[in-house]
Amino acid sequence: MRREIFSDEHEHFRAEFRRFVDAEIVPHVAEWNENGICDRSAWRKMGKGGYLGANAPEEYGGAGADFLFDVVVMEELAYSRAHAPQASVHTDICMPYLTSFGSKAQKEKYLTRAISGECVLAIAMTEPGTGSDLANVQTRAIRDGDEYVVNGSKTFISNGQSCDAVIVVAKTDPEASPPHRGISLIMVDGDAPGFERGRNLKKLGLKGQDTSELFFKDCRVPANNLLGQEGQGFKMLMEKLQQERLCIGVGSMASCRRSLDDTVAYAKERKAFGQPIGQFQNTQFKLAELASQIEIGQAFVDKLLAAHVRGEEIVAEVSMAKWWTTDLQRRVSAECLQLFGGYGFMDEYPISQDYADAAVQTIYGGTNEIMKVIIARKLGLG
Ligand SMILES: Cc1cc2nc3c(=O)[nH]c(=O)nc-3n(C[C@H](O)[C@H](O)[C@H](O)COP(=O)(O)OP(=O)(O)OC[C@H]3O[C@@H](n4cnc5c(N)ncnc54)[C@H](O)[C@@H]3O)c2cc1C
Repeated sequence: MRREIFSDEHEHFRAEFRRFVDAEIVPHVAEWNENGICDRSAWRKMGKGGYLGANAPEEYGGAGADFLFDVVVMEELAYSRAHAPQASVHTDICMPYLTSFGSKAQKEKYLTRAISGECVLAIAMTEPGTGSDLANVQTRAIRDGDEYVVNGSKTFISNGQSCDAVIVVAKTDPEASPPHRGISLIMVDGDAPGFERGRNLKKLGLKGQDTSELFFKDCRVPANNLLGQEGQGFKMLMEKLQQERLCIGVGSMASCRRSLDDTVAYAKERKAFGQPIGQFQNTQFKLAELASQIEIGQAFVDKLLAAHVRGEEIVAEVSMAKWWTTDLQRRVSAECLQLFGGYGFMDEYPISQDYADAAVQTIYGGTNEIMKVIIARKLGLG
């Protein structure tokens, strides 16, 4: 079905970006998955092509285009199974903090180079002891004259190895009550003294995306690296998490489509009992059910994307989409894998990668259980 949110301009951009992905990204995905990280040059090529920050302001090198151009980039990368470079974290999750809350000097320093692919961005919320309960972060950034002194550790940070700057969620007022009022966001440069990267973590899926522990030991950063105002960090996070979660839904739908397309093609070719497995009613019904659910999910995500572009506050609805689409992705990848039989379990068959990659979608960006907590609250419960 034709998707109504995209104009001809978006579709031209999609065709152009797809050619770029086929030429510059897809041939390297296997190697990057093996290495657990992508080549630095991939970021610069993405930046040069104008694929990082289409939605960012023109005065800093962006295209000033609507967010749907960034959505096209997300969809094409997810459909190509390219989880590195992790452009969505960089462009759609981190950059908005700079565009919305950054000072002119911060925008000139970080945003311009982020758009060109020279400054890879990461955001560090999660800590070894604190994930879902974000208000309870233990990392501290204590003001000392013209500097903040940052101490603490973070974990599971996407782009943790590649990043040149990281937005650190830290307590500037550890005594604040309630605790979320003490949270601030601080930009830490990749080469700041006292900032160390830990391991590039080995994981089940998203193999090419580097995910790391980060350590801050008396890490001194200039006081003007504070994003926005002191104590406003939690509010800023809540404002931007809507887009982060919507992006996860966008990626989930594109990944579902890829799994389905590949499985339909396989079902037409693979024979059992003298006929293609797609001739069995079970295969037809399974794929018909998944195709229906994908259309339904896409319609909801597109409706939310249109509302998001209009600037509406749709936190509860986005939470619904985040849990529902990622849950669907898990089911789609599992059902499709089953139709590949034993081949589905083999690394050479990308459906096995889809199955592994789907697992994290229900966990990061706020777990699906937390999404239901948010929805229940909106219903007046809890
Ligand atoms: C590949 C990957 C990339 C990531 N990238 C980043 C990143 O770039 N930046 C970043 O900051 N973080 C990142 N994360 C971390 C991710 O956001 C957290 O893992 C996630 O928020 C969950 O936190 P946790 O792992 O501490 O789980 P916990 O919070 O310990 O939760 C454990 C379980 O308890 C459940 N639970 C917790 N509280 C409740 C509740 N109130 N009600 C019901 N159930 C509850 C959870 O749903 C979950 O099932 C990444 C994680 C992964 C795996």
